Amino acid sequence: MPDLFIILPMAPKLTVEQEFQKLRDELRHHEHLYYVEDAPVLSDAQYDALMNKLKKLEAEHPDLVTADSPSQRVGGKPKDGFVKMPHSRPMLSLDNAYNEDELRAWEQRVRDALPSIEKVRYVCELKLDGLSLALHYGPGAHGAKDGGAHLERGLTRGDGSIGEDVTSNVRTIRSVPLSVSAAKLKAAGLPQSFEVRGEVVLPQVAFAKMNEEREAAGMTPAANPRSAAAGTIRTLEPNIVAQRRLDLYAYFLLQDGETMLPTQSETLEALRKAGFRVNQHVRPVKSIEEVIAFIADAEPLRDTLGYEIDGVVVKVDATSQQKRLGFTGKAPRWAIAYKFAARAGITKLEDVLFQVGRTGKLTPVAALAPVSIGGTTVTRATLHNADEIERLGVRIGDFVSVERGGDVIPKIVEVVEDKTHPRGSKKIVFPKNCPVCASELQRIEGEVDWRCVNNSCPARVREELLHWAARGVMNIEGLGDAMVAQLLGQSVELAGEAEELVTEEGAPVVTRKPLIHTIGDLYRLQRAQLLGLERVGEKTADALLAQIERSKEAGLARVLLGLGIRFVGERTAQLLAAHFGSMEELEKAASQSPDKATEALEAVTEVGPKVAQAIVEFFAVGKNKALVRDLASSGLKMTAEKRVTTSTLEGLTFVLTGTLPNLTRESAKERIESAGGRVSGSVSKKTSYVVAGEEAGSKLDKAASLGVTVLDEAGLIALLEQGPVTT
Ligand SMILES: [Zn+2]
Repeated sequence: MPDLFIILPMAPKLTVEQEFQKLRDELRHHEHLYYVEDAPVLSDAQYDALMNKLKKLEAEHPDLVTADSPSQRVGGKPKDGFVKMPHSRPMLSLDNAYNEDELRAWEQRVRDALPSIEKVRYVCELKLDGLSLALHYGPGAHGAKDGGAHLERGLTRGDGSIGEDVTSNVRTIRSVPLSVSAAKLKAAGLPQSFEVRGEVVLPQVAFAKMNEEREAAGMTPAANPRSAAAGTIRTLEPNIVAQRRLDLYAYFLLQDGETMLPTQSETLEALRKAGFRVNQHVRPVKSIEEVIAFIADAEPLRDTLGYEIDGVVVKVDATSQQKRLGFTGKAPRWAIAYKFAARAGITKLEDVLFQVGRTGKLTPVAALAPVSIGGTTVTRATLHNADEIERLGVRIGDFVSVERGGDVIPKIVEVVEDKTHPRGSKKIVFPKNCPVCASELQRIEGEVDWRCVNNSCPARVREELLHWAARGVMNIEGLGDAMVAQLLGQSVELAGEAEELVTEEGAPVVTRKPLIHTIGDLYRLQRAQLLGLERVGEKTADALLAQIERSKEAGLARVLLGLGIRFVGERTAQLLAAHFGSMEELEKAASQSPDKATEALEAVTEVGPKVAQAIVEFFAVGKNKALVRDLASSGLKMTAEKRVTTSTLEGLTFVLTGTLPNLTRESAKERIESAGGRVSGSVSKKTSYVVAGEEAGSKLDKAASLGVTVLDEAGLIALLEQGPVTT
């Protein structure tokens, strides 16, 4: 008998490439379960461990990193704003119906336009209150190999025909697949190139968190989740977009601008199979009665979904019928948006309080008798400013109609007529003096707001500090309401109630000597000082000091945002930082003669006269200049990576011919010129490059005969980004 060999089953040794593929697939699978299906099986820690394994492997083999790797959601920042691109087919808005009659009238028009023997089916979907995006998928850079579809581009709706390329931000949305595998394409019956349209929403939880931070920071809270989502998708920092947790629900599928599948129901099913998030509240129905039943079921969902909806979208299901119904000038005839009524309630205006913001702006806040609106008890509403009070003609004691949407600050819409000015109602008197520091309020000519112009007003300093420390600004954790109040010498019990921190004489209640008076003082805080505060132990003190120290590295854009210059938000701060590269350069530009200063500032993308003026005014104030110098001497980083935007194509002449796949003629010209190049109409020996698209004519022949280099669109973009190769 020969020896017996026992063969042990051994795990096959994976090549590095295989290991990569396995990890990426695994992570994609769990990402899908978590963000699309809402049904995670891994804990966050387990998921993070897998992700870290992938990141480690990628660090060891940088050549094997692919653009659609789950680790690559947050990538490079868009260089110079967003490029405008035409849509494959216009993104139209829908006609609205506000009641059952209007809905039935629409249905009648649909029936009239189609042969009476044809059955018409409808699909009811929720109308998400977000913004529309178009996602383009295709073979991608390496797709020819794997047969899958890769996210190539994400466009905003824009004006409906031309959108903005926000791909780098869209990539950070976790419910947007970066790629769809060949197997999934097959299961869904999709080609390798297609377009998905969907709605981006900011979940209410994320919206509330964002506004809490903004308010703490003295910034105006976003009006509603829709505008917050719209602002987020256009920010130039993809990592901020990633933090905000936007979500995308897909609802439409196109190939070369045409509807692909025979029905909308099948479209939604195909999207689901391909791994997109499709809203679960969808119902195919056979009659308008069933549509009305769906609407009745959908309205109570408003408070339970976690994101805003403002109605129901009804579409004719069959693509063939959609095509025959066609479009009016601005909307498809085969779809309609049924809008829910606004959520409002009537209550009594009991009093008006005044809050002082970071810029000194005085905001009247309505104190209301508690009223339940859409399931939430409302006791406060904004009155915006004196003009708004005038416009409403409202008095204390009046009954008012209050509206709210989602987690938005409710607002007073109108005075209820039949109860107007009941006996004992009082005129709302705007104070002449700041309710916190008692200094006289001022109103700049042409502006509606009254302001406390005392730069040392405790209410303003408090708001300035909270803004400086806020997430998204300098990110100083631990410097919230309570800590700021203590640093300003106020009692911790009174933190967060600044408007009530006033004695009868109008002076703030201060219980001990303030440790700080300005933002600059933060960077001189001593451990021993912090330990002397209420409820501050060694751990808290050390953590706060470490956070303050760390904030020194935040960089120029964050510092500019933190300084709270009027009209300089996140995006403008980023653009200014990239343009000037250092605080010194910016200050120098802003401190020239008014004409030159304005010109230098308006050279920055998206900076107009209003912003330029605000920057000039900021640097004209001695206290502000002193603060900037103080911060610099404390070691704060006052520089940013400077972007060369003006001279990469200096001295080069371009001729454009034919139709480029994405850029319009105007936008190509604009980009060449803003990079310092010149665009000419005819080809000569002096022409540096001819940029040719489809159906390029004689200019292309001329270029060939003269030996002028010909570029396609990709070549032009590479040239714009990298500049000409010097030999
Ligand atoms: Zn004041």
